[in-house]
Amino acid sequence: MRVETVGAETADTAPSVAAVGAIHGDEPCGARAVERFLAEGPTDRVQRPVKLVVANERALEAGVRSVEGDLNRLFPGDPESDVYEERLAHALWTELAGCSILGFHATVSFDEPFGTLADLTPEKAELMRALPLDHAADFTGVVSGRSVTLPGFVNVEAGYQGSAAAADAAYDCLLAFLRVTDVLPGAPDPTPTNHYRVREAVEKRPGRAYELHGANFERVPAGEAYATTDRGERLRAETDRWPVLMSSDGHETLLGYTAELTGEIAAAVDR
Ligand SMILES: [Zn+2]
Repeated sequence: MRVETVGAETADTAPSVAAVGAIHGDEPCGARAVERFLAEGPTDRVQRPVKLVVANERALEAGVRSVEGDLNRLFPGDPESDVYEERLAHALWTELAGCSILGFHATVSFDEPFGTLADLTPEKAELMRALPLDHAADFTGVVSGRSVTLPGFVNVEAGYQGSAAAADAAYDCLLAFLRVTDVLPGAPDPTPTNHYRVREAVEKRPGRAYELHGANFERVPAGEAYATTDRGERLRAETDRWPVLMSSDGHETLLGYTAELTGEIAAAVDR
């Protein structure tokens, strides 16, 4: 794990803001954004210290998602574990607990950047609106062991894995994050962000191939199939659903998630 603190650090101003790339080694966009900020970003204008982290250096170097276990399934981690990523999860969370944190990921299912979070708060809503994101998926109660379930942690899915567009989007999100957290001067430029409550993880059935009918973050009307299998099985829900992180070949056992649109995220806080 590489941790770079930018900005003057004193006893009174220990960093309480952090950005984390390479939680998954085959999603280099966040590490690229951190490196770009350190190389050519306005580091001289930083007015409050921030930690910039490249988490899974071993996996990043090897170009693989993980080395011994999925870091983003192993929080809060264990320093005594035999599994490298489980020790890393503990080290990372020890480093970042108490911070307002933006993590970076990339997908195989959607080219636009979007946010992921859990346990929506007014602060998280403000953050999502400050980032250039149209959509934010809320995984409250649906996942465990993930960074989004940690206090103060939100993520950006910046685009397709390994793409230049994802690295650019991650950098734009990093700058917006640093503005809204007062690390950088300048007013944030809030934009509306739709909030989606994730309802269901859709597991694949063994031996099936899947065809998707809906696009991510586009409504699939109640009763209509959002996917079918090569055996003619139709996947549908009794209410309108919006596919999230859904991909026919992105993951061995998980097709993706279905969500319900709550509305604009600032209004969704109270619901
Ligand atoms: Zn990831």
